[in-house]
Amino acid sequence: MKSRRILLAALLAGLLSACNALPSPATAAAPAAPPSLLLISLDGVHPDMLGRGDTPHLDRLAAEGVHAEWMRPAYPALTFPNHYTLVTGLRPDRHGLVHNAMYDEDLGWFALKDRAAVGDTRWWEGEPIWVTAERAGLPTATMFWPGSEAPVQGVRPTRWSPFQEGLALDIRIGRVLGWLSEPDATRPRLATLYFEHPDAAGHGYGPQSPQLREALRQVDGALGDLLAGLDARGLRDRVNLVIVSDHGMAEVAPGHAIAVEDMVADEDAQLVSTGQVIGFRPRPGREVEAAATLLGPHEHYDCWTRETLPARWHYGTHPRVPPIVCQMHLGWDAIPRAHLARRPDHARGSHGYDPDRPEMRAIFIASGPAFRAATTLPGFDNVDVYPLLAHLVGVPPAEHDGDPTTLQSALRDAEPIPH
Ligand code: AMP
Ligand code: ZN
Ligand code: ZN
Repeated sequence: MKSRRILLAALLAGLLSACNALPSPATAAAPAAPPSLLLISLDGVHPDMLGRGDTPHLDRLAAEGVHAEWMRPAYPALTFPNHYTLVTGLRPDRHGLVHNAMYDEDLGWFALKDRAAVGDTRWWEGEPIWVTAERAGLPTATMFWPGSEAPVQGVRPTRWSPFQEGLALDIRIGRVLGWLSEPDATRPRLATLYFEHPDAAGHGYGPQSPQLREALRQVDGALGDLLAGLDARGLRDRVNLVIVSDHGMAEVAPGHAIAVEDMVADEDAQLVSTGQVIGFRPRPGREVEAAATLLGPHEHYDCWTRETLPARWHYGTHPRVPPIVCQMHLGWDAIPRAHLARRPDHARGSHGYDPDRPEMRAIFIASGPAFRAATTLPGFDNVDVYPLLAHLVGVPPAEHDGDPTTLQSALRDAEPIPH
């Protein structure tokens, strides 16, 4: 029944596109449907993790297609802020996901593990690319992506699922392959695929660890299966692949963590976020004490008011940015004292450090019919990915912070990427 409906839809779409085509008696065949775009994120993968023998499929895509030397994450170099920047082209200060852990005067608290918050439209500002595409009548599908679980401006991807940490790699790949194999009428023009595994192993044991290398081998193997699946279905020339990460990973040596409670007294300021970007809200009437204790340089961190943060971070105007922001120095964490004792006696990894630190760099690889062969690009900011994505999906970009010229030389076609 379902397949008959899909067949009917495909026939209809074929008829419609044939009607729209310019009259040309010699070419009876309908024009080829535009390729799909598959956006893949490998959480926490740094460019130096590639080319070490663990990622043969990624290395081949990078060598034969387009790859950037590096991509700079937006501030803060955390997962939710950067995934949402990639699909909106807006910096976190403008799209509202200013941290993985936030407080909003009207909405209250936001945390990654809070399903209700993650699915609450009010946290997600801006316009993710799938919303623009869906509105233009182009189907989209997400195999996980921050933001896709909430109806943004009332719109969600046609197909999406709540994040399921640890969902088997082959299930993810199989679902995406299934979508991309559908008839043109239902095949998503944009699909996403997300892997948390490198980030988890990197946090647990550090960027140089055998555990991280094993995670990379597994994810790369899954990508190999995806590519083989595309080849077997004759779809390799019908899909543009853009593979990114959200940030890199820095090593945190044993003992390189302080207790957040030691940064300022709880009676002077309320803690909003821990880790590497620590936010504080001075208690009413205790503003002077909080500022005196926190602001300025410290042994392992520096603090600013949100109005005086370094301009290059483009951060501090969104009301969700806490009044005082402390940035940990590379390789140091600030965590609740209760967690300090539980820290293992071996190296681990963190991100969320200054995006200008080379350790925070992310990856960018692209391959498919739209892309040039064997092209290396110099480093760029991740806000520049969005106009490319909009161009590949074939929708006008919403307002964004990116530079559309950055990725022009990645494309075969000279047609300019619109702003
Ligand atoms: P972090 O390292 O704190 O920046 O966050 C990374 C973690 O975010 C990953 O290990 C995932 O478990 C989690 N994560 C990724 N995508 C989602 C999502 N859509 N919903 C909830 N959690 C997610
Ligand atoms: Zn991440
Ligand atoms: Zn992480």
